[in-house]
Amino acid sequence: VKILLIGSGGREHAIAWKLAQSPQVTRVFVAPGNGGTQKTEKLMNVPISATPSSFEGLGKFAHDNHVDLVVIGPEQPLVDGISEFFKKMGIPCFGPSSKAALIEASKSFSKDFMKKHNIPTAEYKTFTEYSEASQYIESITDATRIVIKASGLAAGKGVILPADQQEARDTIRQIMVQKEFGTAGDSVVIEDRLEGPELSVFAFSDGYSTVILPPAQDHKRVGEDDTGLNTGGMGAFCPSPICNETLLKEIHSRVIQPTVDGLRRSGTPYVGLLYAGILLDKVKGVQVLEYNCRFGDPETQAVMLLLESDLYEIMLACVEGRLDSVGVNTRSDLFAANVVVASGGYPGSYQKGHVITGLDGVPDDVIIFHAGTTLDDHSQKVITSGGRVLNVSTTGKTLQEALDKIYSVLPSVQFEGSFYRKDIGRKASQYKKE
Ligand code: ATP
Repeated sequence: VKILLIGSGGREHAIAWKLAQSPQVTRVFVAPGNGGTQKTEKLMNVPISATPSSFEGLGKFAHDNHVDLVVIGPEQPLVDGISEFFKKMGIPCFGPSSKAALIEASKSFSKDFMKKHNIPTAEYKTFTEYSEASQYIESITDATRIVIKASGLAAGKGVILPADQQEARDTIRQIMVQKEFGTAGDSVVIEDRLEGPELSVFAFSDGYSTVILPPAQDHKRVGEDDTGLNTGGMGAFCPSPICNETLLKEIHSRVIQPTVDGLRRSGTPYVGLLYAGILLDKVKGVQVLEYNCRFGDPETQAVMLLLESDLYEIMLACVEGRLDSVGVNTRSDLFAANVVVASGGYPGSYQKGHVITGLDGVPDDVIIFHAGTTLDDHSQKVITSGGRVLNVSTTGKTLQEALDKIYSVLPSVQFEGSFYRKDIGRKASQYKKE
């Protein structure tokens, strides 16, 4: 079996690594991939990035190389219709259609959808006119109780938690008048602010059935103790001790299953990986912050380490509408964690092209998933090419054991300007004490 996996991040390296473990899989092509997905046994990079204008090229590659299954990592190609494209070619594709992907691509759509289907989420109003949005802001007595969101995709930057009325006014103007996020800000959602810890919950869906995976927690801010700018994510661990079996069942029955049922009944069946961003509000309990129409990065780099079952078989069962026919087993006796090593300056500007050292000397049970790396053809050295560069990942019988292993390896994996957060997973032990 040959698979074409779209994407180039740590998430894709982890998915490729897991797919390659299937005895049925002979090759995972990764387009465009990174330094970690190149020239590893079974993995091979294909130098094509998935933009609408390159779909034809990817299709030709898949056809010529007898690809049996296409798997999509990032959201943008899904929103651009890559799933329909491969479906039309007759090649099975793991990932939702552009219409189903709207649950991530449009926050106003996803909020209306949740309201219609009784899925717990914060109260909200949607605005398409600046005058109405600003009038609404003026009517609010306390701007620290709202959150302002550009409706479209804004790479995690389109969500603002204003500190006061003035910031709320400025934010509305920046999004709706100055178009800071382009058309992503044509529509704005203003919702009630919630308070509590956040979880990332992944579920496989074949359009009817859903299977939930152990809940993970991310670390969005660049600095220790959740300070500094927002990033794509600086580390993750799984499962989260704040989510017990009962709570996970509640998330399954009140969020995941009704979402998939609602989408199917709307004529846009959801086939792929559904990611619900959950906030456990101190008053309201389970609340959906957002949906994503794909695996999360860096949570996937932890979750994949706990998945026992064959990922290829699960994905194939999803696209064939028979998820019930396969087992999805995860290690319940282990914790997984990963810590991101980033380029100095990230998430602001940073340098590229630095040689990474220490990659070969790590213990066998510590896995380094690559993200912003490339393999230099001439020197065969791995060099940096992005902001988030590596994910040092492992499992342990306790979360602390996993973290201790990672933190003992981290000092030896280096490049000029590299840094990582020293407190990944610390919040788990804080919750435990409560
Ligand atoms: P991502 O980068 O995860 O894709 P996004 O831009 O799609 O993010 P959200 O996940 O909706 O946006 O929000 C980003 C963050 O803002 C959340 O992780 C949460 O910390 C905060 N947030 C969003 N909505 C609320 C809310 N109603 N109350 C409190 N905090 C919120």
